Amino acid sequence: MPAKSKLGQNFLRDAVAIERIVAALGDCSARTVLEIGPGKGAITELLATRAKQVIAVEVDTALAEHLRSALPAERVSVVFEDILSYDLEAAAIQAGEKLLVVGNLPYYITSPILLKLAANHSFIERSVLMVQREVADRVAASPGSRDYGVLSVTAQMYGPVTPLFTLPPSAFSPPPEVHSNVFRWHFAPRFAELHVEEVSFIALVKRVFAQKRKTLANNLRAAGYEPAAIAVALKQTGVESTARAEALSLKQLAALWRELPQK
Ligand code: SAM
Repeated sequence: MPAKSKLGQNFLRDAVAIERIVAALGDCSARTVLEIGPGKGAITELLATRAKQVIAVEVDTALAEHLRSALPAERVSVVFEDILSYDLEAAAIQAGEKLLVVGNLPYYITSPILLKLAANHSFIERSVLMVQREVADRVAASPGSRDYGVLSVTAQMYGPVTPLFTLPPSAFSPPPEVHSNVFRWHFAPRFAELHVEEVSFIALVKRVFAQKRKTLANNLRAAGYEPAAIAVALKQTGVESTARAEALSLKQLAALWRELPQK
């Protein structure tokens, strides 16, 4: 079966990396693990020996059929479906517990998958994901770094992100053009603790990072906030009027959300 590049098919062929990915999920002997894009089963096979139950969601019919015949049906349910339409809530209800999620993600839909996981945070305990290195760097970035932006704040508001390791293109067949990073994302949303409302907070984050070269105040002005309201909010939160959004921690962004008029 030739790999379909339009489905992001770069199959992992590094046994040590596969072991590290599964180990990074932690003890899953009593858990249901959802695998996104099992492909030819590189990770799935090992998972089948470690997890109580594996749900493997694959959009490629030929690969899904092959996996169904190759793996023990009592441990692995291969689902032929697009992960973006797959019902995670129903899967968690059926499992009777929050899911663990693992995936060497198809890179062409990395962001939609991350957003889907965030939107379904109540049904997932933790995940171990492989994505293009540049994207992982943005997901895990700290305030003040060049990579810190909407993706970092959004991901980290849903729970801590721990970078794990990097793999070169040679770890895959066929090799992708980019390096890949594996990270753990534990779902423990911070909205309540930081006293912000999820949807409007994320909307504000998008506004303050809209143009990275502009100051935070200028981005807020461009988004239609009154200069006087911006000045008060910056003063109350102790943020310099010349600051850029990329300098602000989650706590400072939350404080800003609380001080600004709601839109
Ligand atoms: N897990 C395998 C491995 O590590 O070798 C394959 C990883 S490969 C990078 C991505 C996999 O995701 C492919 O098998 C591809 O067919 C599958 N895929 C692509 N788009 C998908 C989608 N929308 N839903 C589910 N699986 C998808």
